[in-house]
Amino acid sequence: MAHILVAEDESKIALSLAKALEAEGHLASVAADGRQAWQLLSEGEFDLVILDLGLPEMDGIDVLRQARASGQATPILILTARDALEDRVAGLDAGADDYLVKPFALAEVLARVRALLRRGSSDLPRRISVEDLTIDLLQRRAWRSDDLLDLTTKEFEVLALLAQNAGKPVTREMLGKVVWNNIPRVTSLNNVIDVHIARLRRKVDDPFAIPLIHTKRGVGFVLGATPEP
Ligand code: CA
Repeated sequence: MAHILVAEDESKIALSLAKALEAEGHLASVAADGRQAWQLLSEGEFDLVILDLGLPEMDGIDVLRQARASGQATPILILTARDALEDRVAGLDAGADDYLVKPFALAEVLARVRALLRRGSSDLPRRISVEDLTIDLLQRRAWRSDDLLDLTTKEFEVLALLAQNAGKPVTREMLGKVVWNNIPRVTSLNNVIDVHIARLRRKVDDPFAIPLIHTKRGVGFVLGATPEP
């Protein structure tokens, strides 16, 4: 059983989500505006948050940013009626773990919820080191030469996947599957991946003498001191 916060101002949608989650054996709390969502989130212990981006009082994206800025690692699934890719990218950059575009099927939400809850409790090795890069998978932090890297949730996940496959190429398909749950509606997941790789390079490689993230043309990306395994 998981305790799930549903932050959604359309009461019909909020109710049907809460009912569906409870039918799956979960406990659901509903917040009807952003301020209430943030209040519940900052006080309560939730295993997962379903967050509508278009909320009154306080925008969903601000709730998300505030949650991440305060160190909350709770998986967050965002809902958006907005069709613009930049809004979705902004949500993912702000630390959302996954998203659904409205209208959605309840079965689809429940499948994403199951996947996120599964991933949240995954039993992975705690630390990985590649050259002077260290990644703590439990704390979800990364250091290079003892400098703590300031990474978004998605940037961390991309880097973690590269590190778990250090010396071996990670394809765009793998990144899509693992980091973005293979979201079928993202028409240009390639652009999203490129944006994240570019930002990771600025943070992980640019300040240091030896670059670790390499592009393998037509294949994907490799993490290591040299581009070829
Ligand atoms: Ca709304």
